Amino acid sequence: MFSRCRGFSGRLLRSGSIALSRSVSCRTGTCFSSAHLSTSRRLSSHHPVLSASGPPVLGAARAVRLPSDSARPAAHMDLKGVLEVLEQLAPLSLAESWDNVGLLVEPSEPRPIETILLTNDLTAAVMDEAVAMSCDLIVSYHPPLFRPFKRLLQKDWKQRLAVRAVEAGVAVFSPHTSWDSVEGGVNDWLVAGMGSGKVSVLNQAHCSGPHKHRLEFSCMNDEQLNRLLEQLRHIDAGETFQCSTVRSESGGQQVNLTCLSSALTAAAQILLSDSHASRSLNITQPPLLGCGQGRLSVLDEPVSVSTAVQRMKTHLGLPHLRLALGEQQTLESLVKTVAVCAGSGASVIQGVKADLYITGEMSHHEVLDAVSAGTSVILSDHSNSERGFLTVFRQRLTARLGDTVTVAISQRDRDPLQVV
Ligand SMILES: [Zn+2]
Repeated sequence: MFSRCRGFSGRLLRSGSIALSRSVSCRTGTCFSSAHLSTSRRLSSHHPVLSASGPPVLGAARAVRLPSDSARPAAHMDLKGVLEVLEQLAPLSLAESWDNVGLLVEPSEPRPIETILLTNDLTAAVMDEAVAMSCDLIVSYHPPLFRPFKRLLQKDWKQRLAVRAVEAGVAVFSPHTSWDSVEGGVNDWLVAGMGSGKVSVLNQAHCSGPHKHRLEFSCMNDEQLNRLLEQLRHIDAGETFQCSTVRSESGGQQVNLTCLSSALTAAAQILLSDSHASRSLNITQPPLLGCGQGRLSVLDEPVSVSTAVQRMKTHLGLPHLRLALGEQQTLESLVKTVAVCAGSGASVIQGVKADLYITGEMSHHEVLDAVSAGTSVILSDHSNSERGFLTVFRQRLTARLGDTVTVAISQRDRDPLQVV
């Protein structure tokens, strides 16, 4: 994530509180219909929970061409087909509003997509690599184009990259915060490095699909409920609603309704005109369970700070990490709760109550704030907290694309900082 990257003026929208752990996803005890749940589960079905992928081996990039499979398409894939697969793996609607995700460079001459290069950052070295391998599509986690250009000149390194991509006929795509947010994405991969635990999302994402508004209200009895539902059915022939009810101990009904944006105003007017329903009416957007920025894990088995450091070194494939011990903490202190955000994650994890923060970078004063609250901090440098996810994503992408497509991870992509 680089909301938090200093060079970008994006703003991070933060909701108030920690939301909805995975265990809530079953909604046991409520009466949400399967139709209702489909709104929030649709995404999840595309994103299998992070498979235990083991530590990524940085620098061990190699092209992967999976053996053919009868379930895979045999024909060459075009850019449109690949973009559809990328969207299935991480919907761009999950990206932060300030971000610049999606297709950033589209060649004028369509050509089959035979080689895809995955990289965390698109640098000149990575572009050299892409051109040398006749790459057709570069998937760069960080968007190489972010601020608007008024000209394309050779004196600016990002403008040079744009020109080179166009001249080489290479498409460029960036998923960025959609990968951070999606269930099984960058942040789930990062927190998995600490071992198993009960994982929840720090900044909950909300549904942006068609049925994106939830109206909750209560009715005194069946007669009132039926009367209101009859009125609601007249809105757009009732096709915009999904409804479920729970009977309360007093004999009344608690109603949950989801509706399309186009029907929201009319539905709200009907419910507000009813004196009882209007008093209890609550309009929200359904959460996308498992999706959003940052993760909090309550570890199944607490570990020492020292063990946490070793686990993250292994997970990130790094010989060194930076550690700030929380006040009153030692290397032997136990870590039970861990808050993580890939990249520069202070704006997401700051203030979260946890024994340990893990992110790529935090400022001096942000670290001091955490330490004073008794929270230890592990920093890996920015992109080192993100890059290993490319290995996971390559597996998912190759599983969905035909064997006519080679997916490689850049060998030239690396964090600009190194410990010397
Ligand atoms: Zn980042």
